[in-house]
Amino acid sequence: MNKIMPALFVGHGNPMNAIEKNEFSLTWEKIAKSIPTPESIVCISAHWETDGTQVTAMPKPRTIHDFGGFPKELYEVEYPARGNPELAKEIIHSLLEYNIVADTSWGLDHGCWSVIRCMYPEADIPIIQLSLNYNEDALYHYHLGKELGFLREKNILVIGSGNIVHNLGLVDWNHQSGYEWAQNAHNTINNLILDNNFDPLIDYKNLGKEVRSAIPTPEHYLPLLYILAMKQEGEKITFFNDKLVMGSLSMTSFVIT
Ligand code: ZN
Repeated sequence: MNKIMPALFVGHGNPMNAIEKNEFSLTWEKIAKSIPTPESIVCISAHWETDGTQVTAMPKPRTIHDFGGFPKELYEVEYPARGNPELAKEIIHSLLEYNIVADTSWGLDHGCWSVIRCMYPEADIPIIQLSLNYNEDALYHYHLGKELGFLREKNILVIGSGNIVHNLGLVDWNHQSGYEWAQNAHNTINNLILDNNFDPLIDYKNLGKEVRSAIPTPEHYLPLLYILAMKQEGEKITFFNDKLVMGSLSMTSFVIT
C-alpha cells in the first residue's frame, strides 16, 4: 500500500484549549505523535472567510488573536511557525480553475494555532492557511477538498479546523455535555460519516431541524467537508474528542488513515 499522510478534522472549541492542558488539548498532542511528522501543514480554519479562496503566502505568518474577552495570557501566545510560500504557489498553480489568490496580510488565526501549538509545540513545521470562500456552497467546498487531496501524497498534513455542532447563541457555559437536539444532530452526522455517506452531509441543510440548529452558519462546518472529500477508498475514519460541551458545541474530531 502506498502510504499517504493522514488527514485530520479537528473541533477546536474554546480558544482556551490552546493554553489549557485538558482532555481535548492532550489528545491533540497525542494525535500528533501517532502520525508521521509532516513536511508542512495546510490548515482550513473556520475563522478565515474571504471573497474568493485565498492562501497565505508570507514566509512568516503572524499569530492572530481573533477573539474577545479572554485572559491576557491567551493574547500573549505567539506561534512562530514559518509559512511556506512555495507550497502556496504550488496550490495556486495546481488548481488554476479555482482562482486561488496569494494573501500576505492574514497569518495564523486561532482556529489554526490553538490546535497546532498543542500538536507541535516547537513550531517547527511550516504552515499555510486556506480561506473559506463565502460566496460558494457546500458542494464547491467539497470539490475543492477533493482537488487538494494531492497534498497528502506529498507528506503534507491537511487539517480542517471547525466544530460540527456549533451554535454559540445557545451555548450554556455551565453545561457539561450537549442538549438533546445537539446530541441527536451529532449522532446523525457521525453515523453518516461512518457510513461513508457524504452526499447528505454536503446537503446538510436538508438533514432536519436539529442539524439546522447545530449548523446555524456554515463556516465551522465547511472544514469538515474538505477533509471528508480527501478520504480514499479503503481508508478508515477514527473519531477522537467525540464529545459535546456547553450544550451546543461538539468537539468531535477524526483522523483519516
Ligand atoms: Zn471557532
